[in-house]
Amino acid sequence: MAKRDYYEILGVSKNASDEEIKKAYRNLAKKHHPDVSSDPKASEIFKEVNEAYEVLKDPQKRSQYDQFGHEGPKMNGGFGAGFEGFGNFGGFEDLFSSFFSGGNRTRNNSNSSKRGRDLRVNLIISFEEAAFGVDKEVSITKLDTCSNCSGTGAESKNDVETCQKCRGTGRVVGTQNTIFGKIQTEMSCPECNGTGKKIKRLCKVCNGAGRVKNTSKIKIKIPAGIDDGQTIRYQNYGEAGPNGGPNGDMLISVAVQKHEFFIREGLNIFLELPITFSQAALGAEISVPTIHGNVILKIPAGTQTGEKFRITGKGIKSERTGTQGNQYVIANIKTPTKLSNEQKELFSKLSKTDEMSDSFFAKFKKFFKF
Ligand SMILES: [Zn+2]
Ligand SMILES: [Zn+2]
Repeated sequence: MAKRDYYEILGVSKNASDEEIKKAYRNLAKKHHPDVSSDPKASEIFKEVNEAYEVLKDPQKRSQYDQFGHEGPKMNGGFGAGFEGFGNFGGFEDLFSSFFSGGNRTRNNSNSSKRGRDLRVNLIISFEEAAFGVDKEVSITKLDTCSNCSGTGAESKNDVETCQKCRGTGRVVGTQNTIFGKIQTEMSCPECNGTGKKIKRLCKVCNGAGRVKNTSKIKIKIPAGIDDGQTIRYQNYGEAGPNGGPNGDMLISVAVQKHEFFIREGLNIFLELPITFSQAALGAEISVPTIHGNVILKIPAGTQTGEKFRITGKGIKSERTGTQGNQYVIANIKTPTKLSNEQKELFSKLSKTDEMSDSFFAKFKKFFKF
């Protein structure tokens, strides 16, 4: 019988991308896998699909096939080598775990011991708490190791026996009937699900699971200087692993609330400071709030709106790095909106003198010919 075209078998065009070929293969392999399909010809089709994929997934073999047809890929010792066992099966093991997960045939047995899940906790803290650090208590519900059986799942120590079938190794060598004949493979022990142990009486608290759901309060220490969006990892505070596996981690994502006046950039703090006309014109010593308390700031005569002053060391200090930020004060001259009669008089007196005395105004007037 003439061999079918590999592209036709996979149902892809001659210029299909690697991704398209892989996708087509996966779909077909799933559909025609002899363990899944009831079609009596399934294993034949499955073999055909695999052979086509073996060649088309390999750029070199594919180009030889494109040039010389079915004889092409054999020239280099060929693709026959790819059919020796599951290990060389190209994507096959992959597939196995994706659609036989939970079974005993895959290497990553779902019942063997594994690391527990990481827990994610979102925590909202205030601006000041972020600046100075804070201790928080959070209530968390998670799977913990069962305290009655210490995670073994057995009612008592005497209820744990070594599995006879695998002699405690959790692995057995089995013979599988495959389309390539009988193949010996090492697999997870079906008797003990790969744990190497048998339990006579199950723990009454966790019913053999080894883990129980607990709600507990955990103290969290937020270090000074933490910023919005940062995450703190608490190792081993996550869920207990199944079958006595190690705990996962707890990840705390911190959101920092905005302050009404202070604006944070890294460890520096910015503050817009309202000042009066006269303070700006004459200069002043102004009491300025910082997160460390009020500080006297000297602003020089002739200060303009938008001018920036630094108050060294009054920003946020990072507990982790020891770096100390500064506070920056930005002057914002406020035009008065309500004037007393006396103030009005003074301003009008002033207005007769001040414009001419300023070189900028003079230049401006000259330019526009007022
Ligand atoms: Zn066993
Ligand atoms: Zn238990």
